Formats: sequence, C-alpha cells, structure tokens
Amino acid sequence: MRRMTKALAIAMFTVAVGATGCSVEEIEDDPLEESPLTAEEQALLPDGLAPDHEHDDQVLVPGPAEDDAATFDDDDAYAPLDVEVVDDAPPSALYAALLKSGLHPRASDALRAAGVAGWRITQTIGNAPASAGYHAADGSVNGRTYCAAVDLSTSGLTETQIHNLLEKLAKVGFAVWYRKDGRDGWRGANHIHAVYANSKMKTQLRAQVRSWLDGRTGLVGNGVYGWHKFSATAKAAVKGKFSQSANGTTNGGAGVSGRVNTSGAPLTVRKSASTSSAAVGSVPDGGFVTIRCQKRGTSVTGTYGTSTLWDYIGTGYVADAYVATGSDGQVAPTCQ
Ligand SMILES: [Zn+2]
Repeated sequence: MRRMTKALAIAMFTVAVGATGCSVEEIEDDPLEESPLTAEEQALLPDGLAPDHEHDDQVLVPGPAEDDAATFDDDDAYAPLDVEVVDDAPPSALYAALLKSGLHPRASDALRAAGVAGWRITQTIGNAPASAGYHAADGSVNGRTYCAAVDLSTSGLTETQIHNLLEKLAKVGFAVWYRKDGRDGWRGANHIHAVYANSKMKTQLRAQVRSWLDGRTGLVGNGVYGWHKFSATAKAAVKGKFSQSANGTTNGGAGVSGRVNTSGAPLTVRKSASTSSAAVGSVPDGGFVTIRCQKRGTSVTGTYGTSTLWDYIGTGYVADAYVATGSDGQVAPTCQ
C-alpha cells in the first residue's frame, strides 16, 4: 500500500540502467549495437517511416471531444484491479463496462484508472491483414476478440499533459509511446500508441513491450525513445504486468503488482496474516508479487513504516510494510 520512496525509485532506476551496461545517453548514437531485441524480434518491429505499417489502416479520428485536459495536470494513477477473465467463455456483463469494443477488459479498467475517457480511443482492433497488422486481434476473452494495442488521441492536451498521461498509462501497465511526427523514428499523425502488458498478445507486440522496457521506440531501428523518459515506478509497473501474463504469452493474471523491498533479505511468505504463522516460502528482495487480496493481521514495521496490512500472493501472505505498489491505501479487495 505504500508509495515508493524516492530512494527506492533511484535505486531501481540504477538497476535498470545497469542492466544495459551503459547509460541511455551513451547509446543514443548506435541503438542497434545495444538493442535488447533479437534479430528476429527486430524484424517484427513496424517501420515508423513511410510506409507506416504500424497504422496503415488508421483513421485517427477521436469521438466528440470533452474538455478533460485538467485530468492530466498530474501524473498520478490509481492502481487498477485486474479482473478475472477466461478465454472463450460466453459474453458476460463484464463487457458492459468496456470503454470501447476490442479492448481487453483489464486494459479497459486500466485506461479508466489512468483517467482516459472512451472518446480518446481511436483504434483498438484495426483492419490491416493479420500477418502485418499491429492492431490485428490478439485473442478472445469471454467470447469477444480484443487487441492488446490501443491508440489514443491527444486532442486538447498540452505537451506537459501528454507527458503526465504517458506516466499514468505506464503506471497502470501500458508500454506506451507518444508518436510525434518527425520524432523518434515516427512520421505520421500525432497520437499515443499503447500496449497493455497483462494479456496475451501477438509476437510483434511482445517485441514492442520489451523494446519499451529498454527505453526504446519499438519502431524499425528500435532507437532510444527521447520524447519522454519514464520514471522507475512506471517501468516497474509495466514489468510487473508483463510478468503476470508470462511476458504476453498468456491471458494474464488477476491481481495487483507489488515489488518486495527489504534492503537485502528474502521476505517470508506465511500461511496466514500473522508473524507467528508458519512460513510457507519466501520472495527475494526486489521480486515482483501479484497481490490478489489484502487483510489486516499482526503489526509489522518494514521498509515503508508500520502496518497491519498483509498481502495474499497466491501461496500465502507477506507483510505489506515491505511491498511497494506505487499507490497509497489498500490496492486489492479484502480477503474473505
Ligand atoms: Zn497503434
């Protein structure tokens, strides 16, 4: 439930940069040398310069504009609760709540958590041939097809507000870019291209998410993305959501992502929400957990202060005082 501390954010950023072997500034001139993608994955990336394979069927016409710009005056986002979904089950009431058809229900809720209204959505499933289309259907949930990629209009927003919107979207699990004409390998209409990380997705989109996690464009050449630098909190959120879907290969997992921070020791997983309960496992420092529900138990003083909140992570309970979720307050339903 605790907000990530600045120190932790800096530490995580250092780890992220360290993993590439050098700073992003140093590799800007020669992105291909340091690309995180295999040659096969590189070949799957869209050509951002003409012809535009990422959006060659795109209309990019938003619905009637509403003045919601003030929503993006800050970069805060609510932690979305990932709802349970089942492949190919009959259509359910779940879909009544969708912002727009063609979205994964979890992605729809995540967009809401980021403050995005339905009228901003300009494309979910596109009409391009399945072999080449980044917006072709990725799968089916509750009998309805969806695409993990979604395009958003930035109509009415200042550049500062677009920066905030990108942060909000990443914090709820979207690998996301502002495609600005003439910048970062993009030529075409200005818009936001976002890929929801906690759902099954096509190979091309998995490559794009990996590219995003490494601070790159996800376009041909896969250069360093310069228009916005994402916070460590945002990067950790997308990484957590991507791991929930086994890196985009499964329908995804329900729950809220958290990251264990003990400053070293593994965090003990217990049978119930009590320090005197039997240990049933452990999570390494820095490891991601999926919080399915939370309940009150014995008080624990940890990295984020003193709390009686415990997180159920599927195998047992961990003390929330050691778990960063990027949000204040209880982030998952109360365990029954
Ligand atoms: Zn797109």
